[in-house]
Amino acid sequence: MAKLIVSDIDVKDKKVLIRVDFNVPIKDGVIGNDNRIVAALPTIKYVTENGGKAILLSHLGRIKSDDDKLKLTLKPVAARLSELLKKDVKFVASNEGKELEDAIAAMNDGDILVMENTRFQDIDNDFGKRESKNDSTLGAYWAGLGDAFVNDAFGTAHRAHASNVGIAEAMKAANKPVAAGYLMEKEIKFVGDAVDHPVHPFVTILGGAKVSDKIGVIENLIPKSDYILIGGGMAYTFLAAQGHEIGKSLFEADKVELAKELLAKAGDKLVLPIDNVVSKEFSNDAPFEVVGLDIPADEMGLDIGPKSVALFKEKLAGAKTVVWNGPMGAFEMSNFANGTLEIGRELGSLTEATTIIGGGDSAAAAIQLGLADKITHISTGGGASLEYLEGKTLPGIASISDK
Ligand code: AMP
Repeated sequence: MAKLIVSDIDVKDKKVLIRVDFNVPIKDGVIGNDNRIVAALPTIKYVTENGGKAILLSHLGRIKSDDDKLKLTLKPVAARLSELLKKDVKFVASNEGKELEDAIAAMNDGDILVMENTRFQDIDNDFGKRESKNDSTLGAYWAGLGDAFVNDAFGTAHRAHASNVGIAEAMKAANKPVAAGYLMEKEIKFVGDAVDHPVHPFVTILGGAKVSDKIGVIENLIPKSDYILIGGGMAYTFLAAQGHEIGKSLFEADKVELAKELLAKAGDKLVLPIDNVVSKEFSNDAPFEVVGLDIPADEMGLDIGPKSVALFKEKLAGAKTVVWNGPMGAFEMSNFANGTLEIGRELGSLTEATTIIGGGDSAAAAIQLGLADKITHISTGGGASLEYLEGKTLPGIASISDK
């Protein structure tokens, strides 16, 4: 069932609560990267330019002590938002009580208010982690502050917290609309559709350190994909399961049986590296070389080799949908970045395909390569996009009203 979108609701003269993802890297009050603030602008602008009052909620980091509260206030984020929008943004240093309620009552149409970090509620009271444990009275309190709720925070969609799910449930109980923001809409459209109704040929590329992190994704996507290409550290447990020598490469002994099962289930669909860039040490300063399938006992595989890159490209040719999650090697070190860079470039060149990068390191690699505008969709959520690819119901999305 399609979800209600912010553009479906009448926002004029309405107090619209918007759950954004302002969980930006911040140190000493200085924002390291404002991508997430920029990504929230279309939804905020839609509401304010159409005569609504935008009341923004977000978490920032994890709050365990009063010291964390000093470091993780949203005040600098509100200031950055004001700079980006070139208009006043009111910051309220609380997220419950009279100061907040008075500030909301004083808002005019088109105004923007940012309330303090929702996770301050995790230590501020005698009731435990009210935000992170989805305390229903907190969700109901926030819902009572507005006429509609828009959830644009995909990054937390895999969590049921008071500021996403609690508010949504209370809003719906009061017959008020709960809609997805534009960022959330894109995630549902691209990641959700790739998993639920992929246009074939559909190729999944998985990498990164551990098989254990990606088991759910592999199991969910084997039946749906035409090929699953596996690189990165996780490939070595599969290669070991096939009886290859993997030397000192990353290896999860307790996942070998599972790897065998997945290999049997997937058959020719599952494609593994056929050569490797190896080194004796996990270091960019140590000598490295390309070897075939079997890795000498004192070496470790740190990237896929050129023949594997060529094989993966061959499998990607003609693809109509591609999902990529996880680097092909220890790409932070330049000697072992080639496989990840080549696969990123290949995705960028597939103009006939819907290409989706599922957050985390592969998203960072694509952005670093300047490929962001050549990829159909780079997911903003690491954990959330992995759980989405696993086929799980994300509570933050499930709680949005259907159209
Ligand atoms: P993940 O967080 O699971 O996506 O894993 C990403 C991390 O896996 C990156 O920091 C990579 O350096 C690391 N990685 C990828 N391939 C290898 C490999 N062959 N050996 C060791 N680490 C790897």
